Amino acid sequence: MTQRMHQYDARMVDLVFDYMRERLQYDPVPLDHPGEGERLSGVLDGLLNARGNDPADVLKLYDHELSRAVISADSPRYLSFIPCAPTKAALLFDMVVSCASLQGISWLEAAGAIAAENQVLRLISDRAGLPESAGGCFVSGGSAGNLSALVVARDTARHRLGLASGARMRIAVSDQTHSSVTNTLNIIGVEKLLVPTSDHRLTGAALRAALAADTDPAPVIGVVGTAGTTNAGIVDDLAGIAEVARELDLWFHVDGAYGGAGLFAPSVRAKYDGIEHADSFVVDPHKWLFAPFDCAALIYRRPWLAKGVHTQDASYLDVLHTGDNEEWNPTDYAYHLTRRARGLPLWFSLAVHGTDAYSEAIETGIGLARDTAALIRAEYPDLEVVRDPELSSVVYRRRGWAAQDYYDWSQRLLADQIGFVTPTGWEGEVVARFAFLHPGTTMEMVREILDTMV
Ligand SMILES: *Cc1c(COP(=O)(O)O)cnc(C)c1O
Repeated sequence: MTQRMHQYDARMVDLVFDYMRERLQYDPVPLDHPGEGERLSGVLDGLLNARGNDPADVLKLYDHELSRAVISADSPRYLSFIPCAPTKAALLFDMVVSCASLQGISWLEAAGAIAAENQVLRLISDRAGLPESAGGCFVSGGSAGNLSALVVARDTARHRLGLASGARMRIAVSDQTHSSVTNTLNIIGVEKLLVPTSDHRLTGAALRAALAADTDPAPVIGVVGTAGTTNAGIVDDLAGIAEVARELDLWFHVDGAYGGAGLFAPSVRAKYDGIEHADSFVVDPHKWLFAPFDCAALIYRRPWLAKGVHTQDASYLDVLHTGDNEEWNPTDYAYHLTRRARGLPLWFSLAVHGTDAYSEAIETGIGLARDTAALIRAEYPDLEVVRDPELSSVVYRRRGWAAQDYYDWSQRLLADQIGFVTPTGWEGEVVARFAFLHPGTTMEMVREILDTMV
């Protein structure tokens, strides 16, 4: 039996490859629908039995039932949360990574894969203006990156300040800092200093004022700047924050999970000035750098600090740490051990297409946001742009609508397969929001959606 499972089965290979070939050709990718639990349990019932099933039947069940109960994040009409739009090259190479069981745990085992991943990290570091010594690894997402980085911030400060392990510490954030940072702080036992801002942008002046007014004796050991808030795409005053961080010896973490890709877009690059001073930086290629799930780049200015915190100490791992100068173990730079070489799909796609194609595709999303704001102002008197778009998201309201109107409208829009646009909260009000990113989204699609709101 074991042997049969591991043997090449030409029929099954054809079945699956044919499916993948067809999926890669969907143009446009259909949005599909939310699932119904009862129906899904019905079709899955009895499938996992002792004897197995014909792969054609299982694949058909996946294609006809399961896949249609997953809203396609790579549809150009998916404009909620943060969508994804992997390049074909990246998708194809993701299959290669799977097919070759490609891991990227340690230099000893996977130097070839790690060298390629590090080449991408180098490219991103260079765009950010980080020093030659900067480095890190790919993790599963922004949440994993924020957690791994802020653990290093905590332990580095604890060591520097000679604090006991239970001592209180705080990290400064704004009201738009991503929920994953709040989660991280809960996990690592660090408290928040919530810095009041005007217009939701964290600035050096606001940070300085909050620290000056603060009377809590628990030391503030770091600050999180967001390079592209998830809701409105606001890039914090990174240069101002960096200056305060340098003066006061704060760890400066930049969360660019969504917006970090803007480093590759000339029209907005200046907004990121100051990022070169970051102690740690996260960007999700599975968002706006067109890589498949799940892929986040985590970069440290001084990777050796991360290594001191994250290296796992176990006698059977000693062989990984030979002291060879060249060795770079991605496992040493985050809380993980086993990891797939998830940076390689991006590496392949970057190598094939070149960085100019990326800049152009990212600019497309920025252009869609700008054009949508202009269109709303010019032609839709019932609609109102809430805030000028900074990156690729547009927050807007329908005059006269209450929360329930937005929810009903959003459901109808999806049911009619016109778009997936979920409402969001802004200053206590429910409003509508587009998150652009897919280069296949068109202004005709946007118009079609806006027309349903008048
Ligand atoms: C999406 C996002 C995250 C979380 O990233 P995941 O990849 O979903 O874990 C963190 N911060 C910001 C600003 C984000 O937009």
